[in-house]
Amino acid sequence: MNLPPDDVATLALPPYSGLEPICPKCGWIGATLQYREARGAVALPWNSSHIVDGPRPERLARHCTSCGYHWDEAPLDTPPATASAPSPGNADEGLVEEERI
Ligand SMILES: [Zn+2]
Repeated sequence: MNLPPDDVATLALPPYSGLEPICPKCGWIGATLQYREARGAVALPWNSSHIVDGPRPERLARHCTSCGYHWDEAPLDTPPATASAPSPGNADEGLVEEERI
């Protein structure tokens, strides 16, 4: 069962690196490029409570043609990320620590 991809809209991917990217693992110049639509989490077909892969945003999947490393990049029409601020969960934890002191 696939869940709605709404919860992955805020995930930030690195920007598209062009037709001849440099592999971050082996330095090879060149990787395949494939468009992938956003999707929810993927569960086992026979056991929907067992999640085998988390939700993914719309992305460009890269595959190094030398070492086989995979990574994702943001499509050109992805809106700019606004996630430079710390997450609310971490901020709340900090406030709780200050109150205890
Ligand atoms: Zn590589």
